[in-house]
Amino acid sequence: MFPKNFQKLINHFSDLPSIGPKQAERLVLYLFKQSREKTEDFAQDLHDFATEVRFCERCFHLAEEDNFCAICRNTKRDQTKICVTEDPLDVISIEKTNSYQGLYHVLGGNLSVMSPEEIKRLKIDELIARVKKEKTQEVIVATNPTTDGDTTALYLARTLKPLGVKVFRLGRGMPTGGDIEYADGITLSSALEGRKEM
Ligand SMILES: [Zn+2]
Repeated sequence: MFPKNFQKLINHFSDLPSIGPKQAERLVLYLFKQSREKTEDFAQDLHDFATEVRFCERCFHLAEEDNFCAICRNTKRDQTKICVTEDPLDVISIEKTNSYQGLYHVLGGNLSVMSPEEIKRLKIDELIARVKKEKTQEVIVATNPTTDGDTTALYLARTLKPLGVKVFRLGRGMPTGGDIEYADGITLSSALEGRKEM
Protein backbone atom coordinates (compact mmCIF):
# COMPACT_ATOMS: atom_id res chain seq x y z
CA MET A 1 0.00 0.00 0.00
CA PHE A 2 2.89 2.36 0.70
CA PRO A 3 5.97 2.77 -1.51
CA LYS A 4 8.54 0.13 -0.52
CA ASN A 5 11.00 2.47 1.21
CA PHE A 6 8.20 4.26 3.01
CA GLN A 7 6.91 0.91 4.32
CA LYS A 8 10.41 -0.13 5.44
CA LEU A 9 10.59 2.90 7.68
CA ILE A 10 7.08 2.24 9.06
CA ASN A 11 8.27 -1.24 10.03
CA HIS A 12 11.26 0.21 11.92
CA PHE A 13 9.09 2.67 13.82
CA SER A 14 6.52 -0.05 14.65
CA ASP A 15 9.32 -2.06 16.27
CA LEU A 16 9.86 0.71 18.84
CA PRO A 17 8.17 0.28 22.24
CA SER A 18 4.76 1.98 22.65
CA ILE A 19 4.48 2.83 18.94
CA GLY A 20 1.51 1.21 17.22
CA PRO A 21 1.30 0.66 13.42
CA LYS A 22 -1.00 3.65 12.88
CA GLN A 23 1.27 5.92 14.88
CA ALA A 24 4.28 4.65 12.91
CA GLU A 25 2.56 5.57 9.64
CA ARG A 26 1.88 9.08 10.93
CA LEU A 27 5.49 9.55 12.09
CA VAL A 28 6.89 8.45 8.74
CA LEU A 29 4.51 10.76 6.89
CA TYR A 30 5.70 13.57 9.14
CA LEU A 31 9.31 12.75 8.31
CA PHE A 32 8.49 12.67 4.60
CA LYS A 33 7.07 16.18 4.82
CA GLN A 34 10.27 17.54 6.38
CA SER A 35 12.93 19.15 4.22
CA ARG A 36 15.28 16.67 2.55
CA GLU A 37 18.19 18.29 4.41
CA LYS A 38 16.59 17.62 7.78
CA THR A 39 15.79 14.00 6.93
CA GLU A 40 19.33 13.39 5.69
CA ASP A 41 20.69 14.94 8.87
CA PHE A 42 18.51 12.54 10.89
CA ALA A 43 19.76 9.59 8.81
CA GLN A 44 23.39 10.66 9.34
CA ASP A 45 22.86 10.97 13.10
CA LEU A 46 21.25 7.53 13.17
CA HIS A 47 24.26 6.13 11.32
CA ASP A 48 26.70 7.81 13.73
CA PHE A 49 24.64 6.54 16.67
CA ALA A 50 24.81 2.97 15.35
CA THR A 51 28.54 3.07 14.66
CA GLU A 52 29.89 5.26 17.48
CA VAL A 53 27.87 4.57 20.64
CA ARG A 54 28.80 1.41 22.53
CA PHE A 55 28.88 -0.09 26.01
CA CYS A 56 31.85 0.78 28.21
CA GLU A 57 34.13 -2.26 28.42
CA ARG A 58 34.56 -1.81 32.14
CA CYS A 59 31.20 -0.71 33.59
CA PHE A 60 28.75 -1.17 30.65
CA HIS A 61 27.54 2.41 30.80
CA LEU A 62 27.30 4.30 27.49
CA ALA A 63 30.58 5.13 25.80
CA GLU A 64 31.63 6.77 22.56
CA GLU A 65 34.78 6.80 20.42
CA ASP A 66 36.77 5.30 23.25
CA ASN A 67 36.04 1.82 24.65
CA PHE A 68 35.55 3.34 28.08
CA CYS A 69 32.87 5.76 29.28
CA ALA A 70 33.63 9.29 30.49
CA ILE A 71 33.20 8.20 34.15
CA CYS A 72 35.71 5.35 33.89
CA ARG A 73 38.16 7.63 32.07
CA ASN A 74 37.97 10.20 34.86
CA THR A 75 40.77 9.19 37.25
CA LYS A 76 39.50 11.72 39.86
CA ARG A 77 36.46 9.52 40.56
CA ASP A 78 36.55 7.52 43.80
CA GLN A 79 37.91 4.14 42.67
CA THR A 80 36.87 2.42 45.92
CA LYS A 81 33.12 2.66 45.28
CA ILE A 82 30.97 0.94 42.67
CA CYS A 83 27.30 1.83 42.32
CA VAL A 84 25.36 -0.97 40.60
CA THR A 85 22.36 -0.02 38.44
CA GLU A 86 19.96 -1.86 36.15
CA ASP A 87 20.45 0.37 33.11
CA PRO A 88 22.39 3.40 31.83
CA LEU A 89 19.46 5.79 32.40
CA ASP A 90 19.77 5.14 36.15
CA VAL A 91 23.44 6.20 35.97
CA ILE A 92 22.39 9.44 34.26
CA SER A 93 19.79 10.11 37.02
CA ILE A 94 22.34 9.54 39.80
CA GLU A 95 24.96 11.66 38.00
CA LYS A 96 22.47 14.53 37.79
CA THR A 97 22.25 14.63 41.60
CA ASN A 98 25.97 15.51 41.80
CA SER A 99 26.14 13.62 45.09
CA TYR A 100 28.09 10.53 44.04
CA GLN A 101 31.74 10.52 43.02
CA GLY A 102 32.43 6.80 42.68
CA LEU A 103 32.28 4.41 39.75
CA TYR A 104 29.33 2.46 38.31
CA HIS A 105 28.48 -0.97 37.03
CA VAL A 106 25.44 -1.42 34.77
CA LEU A 107 23.89 -4.90 35.04
CA GLY A 108 21.64 -4.62 31.99
CA GLY A 109 18.48 -5.67 33.86
CA ASN A 110 17.48 -7.45 37.04
CA LEU A 111 16.97 -10.98 38.30
CA SER A 112 13.25 -11.54 37.85
CA VAL A 113 13.74 -15.29 38.01
CA MET A 114 16.73 -16.84 39.71
CA SER A 115 17.73 -19.15 36.87
CA PRO A 116 21.32 -19.76 35.79
CA GLU A 117 20.58 -18.39 32.29
CA GLU A 118 19.11 -15.25 33.78
CA ILE A 119 22.15 -14.68 35.95
CA LYS A 120 24.43 -15.20 32.96
CA ARG A 121 22.55 -12.58 30.91
CA LEU A 122 23.39 -9.86 33.41
CA LYS A 123 26.90 -8.44 33.86
CA ILE A 124 27.32 -10.09 37.26
CA ASP A 125 30.46 -12.14 36.48
CA GLU A 126 32.02 -8.94 35.16
CA LEU A 127 31.14 -7.18 38.44
CA ILE A 128 32.69 -9.98 40.51
CA ALA A 129 35.83 -9.78 38.36
CA ARG A 130 36.04 -6.02 38.95
CA VAL A 131 35.59 -6.35 42.71
CA LYS A 132 38.41 -8.91 42.79
CA LYS A 133 40.74 -6.92 40.55
CA GLU A 134 40.05 -3.26 41.36
CA LYS A 135 40.39 -1.24 44.58
CA THR A 136 36.71 -1.69 45.48
CA GLN A 137 35.75 -1.33 49.15
CA GLU A 138 32.05 -0.48 48.80
CA VAL A 139 29.38 -1.70 46.42
CA ILE A 140 26.17 0.33 46.48
CA VAL A 141 23.29 -1.60 44.93
CA ALA A 142 20.99 0.91 43.25
CA THR A 143 18.66 -1.51 41.49
CA ASN A 144 15.04 -0.33 41.41
CA PRO A 145 13.02 -0.59 44.68
CA THR A 146 10.85 -3.37 43.22
CA THR A 147 10.60 -7.07 44.12
CA ASP A 148 12.96 -7.94 41.26
CA GLY A 149 15.35 -5.14 42.19
CA ASP A 150 15.40 -6.34 45.81
CA THR A 151 15.98 -9.96 44.72
CA THR A 152 18.92 -8.80 42.62
CA ALA A 153 20.32 -6.79 45.54
CA LEU A 154 20.12 -9.79 47.88
CA TYR A 155 21.81 -12.02 45.34
CA LEU A 156 24.61 -9.49 44.86
CA ALA A 157 25.09 -9.06 48.61
CA ARG A 158 25.38 -12.83 49.08
CA THR A 159 27.85 -13.11 46.20
CA LEU A 160 30.00 -10.06 46.91
CA LYS A 161 30.32 -9.97 50.71
CA PRO A 162 32.54 -13.09 50.86
CA LEU A 163 34.99 -11.15 48.63
CA GLY A 164 35.61 -8.75 51.52
CA VAL A 165 33.67 -5.69 50.33
CA LYS A 166 30.87 -3.83 52.09
CA VAL A 167 27.56 -4.02 50.23
CA PHE A 168 24.97 -1.27 50.63
CA ARG A 169 21.40 -0.79 49.43
CA LEU A 170 19.96 2.66 48.73
CA GLY A 171 18.32 4.07 51.85
CA ARG A 172 14.67 4.77 52.58
CA GLY A 173 12.82 7.45 50.69
CA MET A 174 12.79 5.70 47.36
CA PRO A 175 9.13 4.90 46.68
CA THR A 176 8.54 1.13 46.73
CA GLY A 177 7.83 -0.20 43.26
CA GLY A 178 9.28 3.00 41.82
CA ASP A 179 11.98 3.53 39.27
CA ILE A 180 15.35 5.16 39.96
CA GLU A 181 15.28 6.70 36.51
CA TYR A 182 12.24 8.79 37.48
CA ALA A 183 13.17 9.60 41.09
CA ASP A 184 13.78 13.28 41.76
CA GLY A 185 17.27 14.49 42.60
CA ILE A 186 16.62 15.22 46.27
CA THR A 187 15.08 11.78 46.90
CA LEU A 188 18.00 10.09 45.13
CA SER A 189 20.62 12.15 46.98
CA SER A 190 19.14 11.30 50.37
CA ALA A 191 18.75 7.61 49.39
CA LEU A 192 22.46 7.57 48.53
CA GLU A 193 23.34 9.43 51.71
CA GLY A 194 21.22 7.09 53.86
CA ARG A 195 22.47 3.86 52.26
CA LYS A 196 22.17 0.80 54.50
CA GLU A 197 24.72 -1.93 54.80
CA MET A 198 23.32 -5.30 53.71
ZN1 LIG B 1 32.62 2.87 32.29
